[in-house]
Amino acid sequence: MQTGRKWSKQDAIVSATFPSAVHRYASAFLDLIYPRRCEGCEAALAFGRTEASRWLCDECLAALPRIQPPFCSNCGEPYDGAMSDSFRCGNCADTKHHFDFAIAAYMAEDTMRHLIHRFKYQHQLHLRGLLASLLARTLEDPRLCQINRSAWVLVPVPLYHARQREREYNQAWELCRHLSQTSGIMAVEALSRVRPTTAQASLSRKQRLENLKGVFQMKRPWFKPQPLTGKSVLLVDDVLTTGSTASECAQVLRRKAGVEKVVVITVARG
Ligand SMILES: [Zn+2]
Ligand SMILES: [Zn+2]
Repeated sequence: MQTGRKWSKQDAIVSATFPSAVHRYASAFLDLIYPRRCEGCEAALAFGRTEASRWLCDECLAALPRIQPPFCSNCGEPYDGAMSDSFRCGNCADTKHHFDFAIAAYMAEDTMRHLIHRFKYQHQLHLRGLLASLLARTLEDPRLCQINRSAWVLVPVPLYHARQREREYNQAWELCRHLSQTSGIMAVEALSRVRPTTAQASLSRKQRLENLKGVFQMKRPWFKPQPLTGKSVLLVDDVLTTGSTASECAQVLRRKAGVEKVVVITVARG
């Protein structure tokens, strides 16, 4: 018999009702009264676990398909086998991406794929804490672990407004907000998507570029200019597949907002 609470509803209520500090205490209090359950296998979790292990048991966490070197220095595509030097995959050798490089923490397989699907398509917003803490592992990359965090800004890949209304939130912005709280890196919803696009994965490279042309613009808040000139951006999304969407966003950030460097970070790679 299960004695733990179903977390999603309480989390959502606490999260919607209280500001973050109060939310943390309220959430910890609920953890104490009703043990949290693993989001992978539903095993009861002990009180006091932190970061990703607050939501996943040790077995489920260890089973997630973490991307380890060697991987493409440009798009993060993992490579089976030994590779002593930095390398670019075949796809990146022929393609110009407008971002500096992309890093994904995990492959979008098994439990990882299932968690992202629930977060994105099944309104399970409570998974944002878990997925943001898994996303934070991209910051352990040697190219990012020494960065001056005050010079960087987290920017989400935007959703088209009709899609966001239907989904009720932009999953990339929710990841940014949570990662901003834990990392201290400022988050700005700087881009907007001005028209809907068809799914990229089924299109050829030429069709993908055509599909994305002019889709992204800078948001212009009426009260202040974009604070991005000369900054470096961590462009955030849940999954990176072809890299075309991220590249188009990076191009707009550079050309329209004067951003100097764009690194794409995603929870998973499709
Ligand atoms: Zn588990
Ligand atoms: Zn590559």
